[in-house]
Amino acid sequence: MITLKNIVKAYDGKKDSGRAVDGLNLEIQRGEFVALLGPSGCGKTTTLMMLAGLLKPTSGEIYFGERMVNHVEPKDRNIGMVFQSYALYPHLTVRDNIAFPLRERKMRKPEAYERAREISRIVQIDHLLDRKPSQLSGGQQQRVAMARALAKNPEILLLDEPMSNLDARLKLDVRDEIRKIQRDLGVTTIIVTHDQEEALAISDRVAILNDGRIQQYAPPDELFSHPVNLFVASFLGNPPMNLIAGEIRPAEDGDGDGDGDGDGQTIATNGFRYRLPDARKLAAEHLGKPVKLGIRPHDLTLTDASDARAIPMQVDLVEHLGSGKLVKVVDPDKKLDGMVRLLTDNEADVRSGDTVYMRIRDDKFHVFDMT
Ligand code: ADP
Ligand code: MG
Repeated sequence: MITLKNIVKAYDGKKDSGRAVDGLNLEIQRGEFVALLGPSGCGKTTTLMMLAGLLKPTSGEIYFGERMVNHVEPKDRNIGMVFQSYALYPHLTVRDNIAFPLRERKMRKPEAYERAREISRIVQIDHLLDRKPSQLSGGQQQRVAMARALAKNPEILLLDEPMSNLDARLKLDVRDEIRKIQRDLGVTTIIVTHDQEEALAISDRVAILNDGRIQQYAPPDELFSHPVNLFVASFLGNPPMNLIAGEIRPAEDGDGDGDGDGDGQTIATNGFRYRLPDARKLAAEHLGKPVKLGIRPHDLTLTDASDARAIPMQVDLVEHLGSGKLVKVVDPDKKLDGMVRLLTDNEADVRSGDTVYMRIRDDKFHVFDMT
């Protein structure tokens, strides 16, 4: 329903490449909830402003359905937008704030007020219609901004970091509500955020941006299970994925599993070796090439010394996360560079200085070619 074709946006005076958005392609289905997720400065807001018509692409095309909208004015795009700052009119009541876009479209006052009441009920602020924005909490202001964006019954709702001014607890409630309202109204929604938890929780699909380009566009599950590159792998996940540099070598005798078979492959770094399961045999072209082995902290478990796949490590630090413990371990022989993070449940009895044995859960790891 929405198509971005090879969109480029260059700002005059922007440093580095000069391109805030650099060849962006994206398709969004009718009724879909899509997040643009990426670090600060990657081009999220710029993309949203082009969808809104508040900025013109330097090149490329934007389609709403079959219609090319590059030159269509914002007011003719049938969109609702919520800005990070909410941008409410301080001198107007909640009722007049919500009715504003309708009055702008020449709707008569009684009708506009009726619609304001209707939509304020949906976002649960109908008891606040006579107040001014300064008399509202942050969460209530956020709802007013949502109501104003939805008043025109837009086909497309654009949200730019709409929850960044809310405290952590309220964020969770507002997040659920935005999702519910979006489902009820069926409005195609694009949210911009740098908060991965928010993006993953709320969206049907997430487009991960870096340096003005889409790195991967997929449902949340797939982004986790099949990150297409190192950026996506290391950007997603909290605590972040462990990344261990090494190379893929053919397995030699004495690969540690005791079956004496020399098939298969190992990933090796500085004398540390981990035998890859046969099912995960990597293409011959990976052999001898530098790679990074990516393992999420929850895919490392504690085992005991008799486990053929056990890797002995020493506990450096234990952090309590509430939901479990984050255990930072190092290789006492220093074959593995740096620190490895693993997650355990709260019951695990581990202290700094302990020797522990870790293994990779069901051989859940990712291999990224570094050539
Ligand atoms: P995000 O919303 O992902 O944080 P933006 O889209 O706001 O990123 O900005 C993308 C890049 O474009 C950044 O490098 C930013 O500094 C630059 N930029 C944004 N607006 C302007 C502008 N008006 N003039 C020059 N550079 C800009
Ligand atoms: Mg932004």
